[in-house]
Amino acid sequence: MRSDTIIIGGGLSSLVCGIKLQKAGQRCLIVSAGQNALHFSSGAFGLLGKLPDGTAVKEPMRSLSFLPEEHPYSKIGVDKMAGYVSETPAFFESCGVRLHSAPIAGEGGFPANGYRLTPLGSLKPAWLAMEDVTLLQSKDNIPWSKALIVNFFGFLDFNSGFIAEGLSRRGVDCRVETVSIGDVENLRKNPTEMRSVGIARVMGKENNWKEFGSKVRKLSAGEDLVILPEVFGLGDPVIIQWLREMIPAEVMFVGTMPPSVPGIRTQMRLKKAFEVAGGTFLSGDTAVNPTVEDGYVTSIHTTNLGSISLDADNYVLASGHLFGKGLESTPSKVVEPVFGLDTDFPSDRKTWCDEDFFARQAYDGYGVVCDGSFRPFIGGKSVRNLFVIGSEVGGCDSLYEGSGAGVAIMTAMSVAGNILSGK
Ligand SMILES: Cc1cc2nc3c(=O)[nH]c(=O)nc-3n(C[C@H](O)[C@H](O)[C@H](O)COP(=O)(O)OP(=O)(O)OC[C@H]3O[C@@H](n4cnc5c(N)ncnc54)[C@H](O)[C@@H]3O)c2cc1C
Repeated sequence: MRSDTIIIGGGLSSLVCGIKLQKAGQRCLIVSAGQNALHFSSGAFGLLGKLPDGTAVKEPMRSLSFLPEEHPYSKIGVDKMAGYVSETPAFFESCGVRLHSAPIAGEGGFPANGYRLTPLGSLKPAWLAMEDVTLLQSKDNIPWSKALIVNFFGFLDFNSGFIAEGLSRRGVDCRVETVSIGDVENLRKNPTEMRSVGIARVMGKENNWKEFGSKVRKLSAGEDLVILPEVFGLGDPVIIQWLREMIPAEVMFVGTMPPSVPGIRTQMRLKKAFEVAGGTFLSGDTAVNPTVEDGYVTSIHTTNLGSISLDADNYVLASGHLFGKGLESTPSKVVEPVFGLDTDFPSDRKTWCDEDFFARQAYDGYGVVCDGSFRPFIGGKSVRNLFVIGSEVGGCDSLYEGSGAGVAIMTAMSVAGNILSGK
């Protein structure tokens, strides 16, 4: 089977790169092993929330010059970053994913970071958010004094107590209520069904979300803010808008325990956009056994297709960090398991992690070593037609910096551009 480009991994970076290439006329194949970070998403994308030294960032585009040269954003360069950051909302809109930024523009018209309310009741910086998620202008000034938090009766993956505690500390007077809906009660008979996606499926029925909306409307008299779990609009986010219109207060949706309903909706829409553009997406398959000759990848195989060889002009590795199994850790090494690419990690094993579970973990910053065009190396030798994108790229600690989705999208756009221009 021959393609122009084969992409390994089916997460955010893979889909952005695949859609860009496919829309530009390439024939792309994505091989995707399983779940990706979007299934766990907060519903918001981070571009840069903190510098590596811990300095808080308000305007990501103004802070790029403070990043080290090995950082993926430094490799892309300020001018190209500006183009990709400006292009991102329209790109996602064209795939059926509506994103918004906080209602404050920074210097040059680039969005400044807004703040989203987390399931633990804290506020975290964010660049862009999905339709469910409200972004606040400031983390110090919450514009509401009274909040009602509504949960489904018996739904344990949405902790209204944590949210109430977090908001109370910021001076918001909180009240917690539960609502029962017949079809959701039926889910409780099987505890594995009583999860965010199970509830989102039954709440997709018009009679259910209307019943929920009218019950919440009755409870919300006199409230400034109503907080609901992110379990609406899995198939069609218009339900989110309808609920906002029927409830007479500001409505904010807050994340549940995974799986993430806005993240899964986004993944489904990006995958559909890729396929509508003509791309081929192999779900539940794993890329294995590549052949690399004289600095070029000539083919790969997959576990499902066995001896059938997949060939392309270019290959993109988007298989994630340790979480996605794009990197694996042994007692002595951090390895990239498909190609055996060079990775950056210190030899002293003791420095890899901090025993304090909540401390910054050094291993979050390890990744594949790449040149300025995101080409990797095997044993110090460049692989000319292989590119690495997303959380697998070395040179940054995305979790600490709050730059996860930003690195995924920016590296994907950059590599798609490199492939199309033949650089
Ligand atoms: C749990 C979690 C939650 C996060 N939430 C956020 C958030 O809310 N906002 C934010 O900005 N950032 C978040 N991030 C950061 C995240 O890294 C990026 O946002 C981004 O989604 C990463 O995308 P990716 O494509 O690089 O990798 P991933 O999403 O990890 O996707 C990698 C994919 O490659 C597949 N794969 C691995 N090996 C193979 C193989 N050999 N063959 C085929 N497929 C393979 C995996 O199964 C997986 O589907 C989160 C990260 C994690 C781990």
